[in-house]
Amino acid sequence: MSKIVYADNAATTFLSKHALEAMMPFLTDQPGNASTVYAYGRAAKRAVEDARSKVAAAIGAKPEEVYFTSGGTESDNWAIKGVVELRKNKGKHIISTEIEHHAVQHTLQYLEKQGYEVTYLKVDQYGNISLDDLRAAIRPDTILITVMTANNEIGTILPIAEIGAIAQEKGILFHTDAVQAVGHIPVNVSEMNVDLLSLSGHKFKGPKGTGALYMKKGLRLPALLQGGGQERGVRSGTENVPGIVGLGAALEEATANLGESMKRLAAMREKLVKGLTAIPYTRLTGDPVHRLPGIASFVFECVEGESMVLLLDQNGICGSSGSACSSGSLDPSHVLMAIGLPHEIAHGSLRLSLNEDNTEEDIDYLLEKIPPVIERLRAMSPLWEDKMAGIAAAAAAK
Ligand SMILES: *Cc1c(COP(=O)(O)O)cnc(C)c1O
Repeated sequence: MSKIVYADNAATTFLSKHALEAMMPFLTDQPGNASTVYAYGRAAKRAVEDARSKVAAAIGAKPEEVYFTSGGTESDNWAIKGVVELRKNKGKHIISTEIEHHAVQHTLQYLEKQGYEVTYLKVDQYGNISLDDLRAAIRPDTILITVMTANNEIGTILPIAEIGAIAQEKGILFHTDAVQAVGHIPVNVSEMNVDLLSLSGHKFKGPKGTGALYMKKGLRLPALLQGGGQERGVRSGTENVPGIVGLGAALEEATANLGESMKRLAAMREKLVKGLTAIPYTRLTGDPVHRLPGIASFVFECVEGESMVLLLDQNGICGSSGSACSSGSLDPSHVLMAIGLPHEIAHGSLRLSLNEDNTEEDIDYLLEKIPPVIERLRAMSPLWEDKMAGIAAAAAAK
């Protein structure tokens, strides 16, 4: 079998074996609906509550502050639409950033069509917002601040605790999409001063279609889904018992060795960054220091991202250009536009996202295979030809 290096863990991960083992009984010989009272049901209920405790422990919350959902997208939708409904008498203004995931960005755009007003804070070249801009954007009718903990495309980690402190001081509810952070960097809801936090199972080796919303004690958002009243009446639908169990097991596993795994990942990432930024006309995107340990993201001038991803695939490398959610569209990603990259440069983006399963050999393989791919694409590019001709002409004119 030819070698495959999976470097797209920010899009999704392989399911952890530990999580699968924890899930198996609930997929095979345990039919329990967690809302029934006979033994099967009680066992399912116990397993769900056990997973809730694990999730709570991983993010520094109390179990009763954790609500299970179908994933990051649902958690984001619920948090934002829930606050809007809860605070409908207070105002119609929301503050967010230009670099949110579509699960947040498109929810906000939907609300704008309903008459809400959204201030999208600008970011600098590294994807960071300014706290002064945030303070200046706050109005008496601001009901929600929603800022992601870490960006999925460029890996930048935002100053969530500081943002949360400002929100708290002004009495504004604060939500963070922490889907890329939970299980990857330390996350603690009280240190971060958040009221609401979204997480997703399949970004840390849990099953797809699982997630959770942290809701601070005392806060009770209206339900997004009406029905049987599961999750203490606010998230109806028969509990996804195997999914919830898998999410809990995967998160417990991911956070158990977090310090060590972050160190190892950051070292592999740095080796990749050093190796690939040695290619001419290449830059790292995102904050060079405050970034997720596993995300290495680049732009290569005069390279077309989708062709690069296809050619890398032929070499057994799974990476992504822009985010998986927006590929298929020809516009460069809103995140790369927001950090000020010109269109033609933003088109040549590549994100390599690592996790615990990646090895040193994977990094060596990436460093061996990627540079010739870039060279080959540039050799076919009229933009590159023009650029080189321009440089030669300028040199001759000297
Ligand atoms: C993947 C992702 C989501 C969506 O989560 P799903 O569980 O796939 O719905 C939301 N926000 C960020 C930052 C993500 O990376």
